[in-house]
Amino acid sequence: MPSNERQRREALVYHAKPKPGKIEVVPTKKYATQRDLALAYSPGVAAPCLEIEKDKNNSYKYTSKGNLVAVISNGTAVLGLGDIGPEASKPVMEGKGLLFKIFADIDVFDIEVDTKDVEEFIATVKRIAPTFGGINLEDIKAPEAFEIERRLKEELDIPVMHDDQHGTAIISAAALLNAVELAGKKMEEVKIVVSGAGAAAVSCSRLYKSFGAKAENMVMIDSKGVIRSDRENLTDEKREFASHRIIDSLDDAMKDADVFVGLSVADIVTPAMLLSMADNPIVFAMANPDPEIDYDLAVNTRKDLIMATGRSDHPNQVNNVLGFPFIFRGALDVRASKINEEMKKAAVRALANLAKQAVPEQVNIAYGETKLNFGREYIIPKPFDPRLLTEVPPAVAKAAMESGVAKEPIEDWQRYEDELYE
Ligand code: NAP
Ligand code: MG
Repeated sequence: MPSNERQRREALVYHAKPKPGKIEVVPTKKYATQRDLALAYSPGVAAPCLEIEKDKNNSYKYTSKGNLVAVISNGTAVLGLGDIGPEASKPVMEGKGLLFKIFADIDVFDIEVDTKDVEEFIATVKRIAPTFGGINLEDIKAPEAFEIERRLKEELDIPVMHDDQHGTAIISAAALLNAVELAGKKMEEVKIVVSGAGAAAVSCSRLYKSFGAKAENMVMIDSKGVIRSDRENLTDEKREFASHRIIDSLDDAMKDADVFVGLSVADIVTPAMLLSMADNPIVFAMANPDPEIDYDLAVNTRKDLIMATGRSDHPNQVNNVLGFPFIFRGALDVRASKINEEMKKAAVRALANLAKQAVPEQVNIAYGETKLNFGREYIIPKPFDPRLLTEVPPAVAKAAMESGVAKEPIEDWQRYEDELYE
């Protein structure tokens, strides 16, 4: 949310002027002469139509499908704003379009759908899917989002990703791998407390498990307290992370924990809880806009802390823009039929590795830093790092090929990487 009245007015003017909104459609072919128009539209356009009628795959050759992603929402869980409806979600979806374009040169149509019904939503997306090379589901409330994504992944043959679940999981997993290494610990051994059991928390916890975290070392907490296996009426997702430990509160869970992952609400972690954690505690307080514990309060409480938040005004921002543009870039470039676990894990490894490489001067300059260096205050790359585009998409594309979901495998990697530079 804008922090003051001036920022609010600035944001409104930004969105309103000189043209309302943030994206527009631009022709990519010549249109100056009658001949151009006869090719662009009737009669010339019939030729590609017939080629595509013969073989649908030709739509990748003759239309913009292969570089076009739908950012689709029903506006039920928008940023920290909640269920504000499809129209009110449109600025966010247009914003996502802008980010796809500037970071990975992917075009986006934002689609706002007026239904909260799971089946209606699925049917709508399926019917418009022929237009697109990929589907980015956005800001759809849990638990509906789980079912919507699961079904669309199963029933469509183009990449589908609910970014609120997997984007956050991928970026935070990369940060966690590096933080655990810096703390001198092992994923297989760390005790993890997850505050929140919504779309983001569940998906993060699943991905951490696939990187070695043990379910028996995890405790998940929702608005009612610790999710225990003896609690009644748990959703499937909560049951998956139910703990056998007989504890009730966040207070209990934090004692001797190595990692706190917050995807819940502001200001629920106290300094006393931080002090009760193990040495070199890792705290990812990602509730937006205000974290589970204030950054300054936390770093002043424990000098050995490794902290990340969802905010850009502190080090280690878990920012989804590090993921989705590059993950879709890699998936589209090999015409992947899905974004699978292997591809997500490849993105995690690429991001974690990139943070360990020497930082180019232009990145320091972009962030007003003098010496970004792998360490407590730099465990994940920065969004304006140009190497993201040459590191993450190839890793995702390779993983798609190796896991058998790439319909157009890349043969010449050198050429592919050169093309990414352009
Ligand atoms: P969500 O699906 O609405 O889930 C919110 C979860 O928080 C629910 O499971 C809820 O419990 C739980 N909760 C509420 N009060 C709590 C409390 N006092 N203690 C523990 N848990 C509590 O939302 P989401 O999409 O997962 O997002 C959750 C938060 O993470 C938001 O603040 C969001 O902005 C932030 N987030 C940040 C990033 C990022 O930094 N990149 C990315 C994604 C999300 P019930 O299940 O009992 O309702
Ligand atoms: Mg979102």
